[in-house]
Amino acid sequence: MDRYLVFGHPVRHSKSPFIHTLFARQTQQELEYGLAEPAVDEFAQALRTFFDQGGKGCNVTVPFKEQAFALVDRLSPRAKRAGAVNTIKLTNDGVLLGDNTDGAGLVADLKSHGVTLADSRILLLGAGGAARGALAPLLAELPSELVIANRTHTKAQQLAAEFHDLGPVTAQTYEQLAGPFDLVINSTSASLQGELPPLAPALIHTDIAIYDMMYGASDTAFISWAKQHGARQTMDGLGMLVEQAAEAFTVWRGIRPGTKQVLRELKRNLGVI
Ligand code: NDP
Repeated sequence: MDRYLVFGHPVRHSKSPFIHTLFARQTQQELEYGLAEPAVDEFAQALRTFFDQGGKGCNVTVPFKEQAFALVDRLSPRAKRAGAVNTIKLTNDGVLLGDNTDGAGLVADLKSHGVTLADSRILLLGAGGAARGALAPLLAELPSELVIANRTHTKAQQLAAEFHDLGPVTAQTYEQLAGPFDLVINSTSASLQGELPPLAPALIHTDIAIYDMMYGASDTAFISWAKQHGARQTMDGLGMLVEQAAEAFTVWRGIRPGTKQVLRELKRNLGVI
């Protein structure tokens, strides 16, 4: 049977096996999908061993995405832009192809929530790996403006300069931000510690859409905060997780699974519904 897995550290709580098993059932594909948690300095060897032993493809998550970028034989254009790889496929001619489906997953999820990206004013919080992966797919939707704000301002400036050729992207400090924005995407890892990015509450209004890439069984700190300040449309990153997985599954199997039912089952599994 064709074998796939996700590499991460820690990865024990990953929902990827659950999601891909449902995709396989739905599309009647014969495959198995597992977990691998190599020590941080043993990822390269573990990756090689997996493919030497017949593995067909894998996902890569924190903290291995940049290492994977350096280890594959060939990069897709979107992985090259993202500077990170979250999906690897062994092609028929034996080449390890590195791809990045995170940004496409984010845009697909935003669209499935009915969020309009064209001509909208978007604020992206954070300038780490997730922000980098999101920039090209977001700019491809032709927003009127995309502002990046990050705690370490120089990193936001660097990203804005790097993606400037793709659209109207600028960097501002949190203090400089002036509304109204149509959409705020939190790609910081602040919610992981229950912390908030230092965003002025005045930037939140009833018609704004709020997206936190993080997810959990209950509202993230950022979503709770935005709701308190009047945001009516809030979304967490669970849909992005399922959509990036669907994109990876399509890369591997050449068949696109439906995501709605899988997202519902995942929510049930997490106790969200
Ligand atoms: P990185 O470590 O690469 O970047 C973290 C970013 O968060 C940096 O810009 C950092 O700022 C900022 N940050 C951290 N703590 C704070 C704080 N207290 N206040 C303000 N800013 C802060 O992480 P990633 O980009 O890889 O991931 C970010 C988040 O996105 C994670 O929560 C991750 O789980 C989520 N994610 C979700 C996915 C999904 O499918 N739903 C997919 C990928 C990521 P600074 O530069 O100053 O350090």
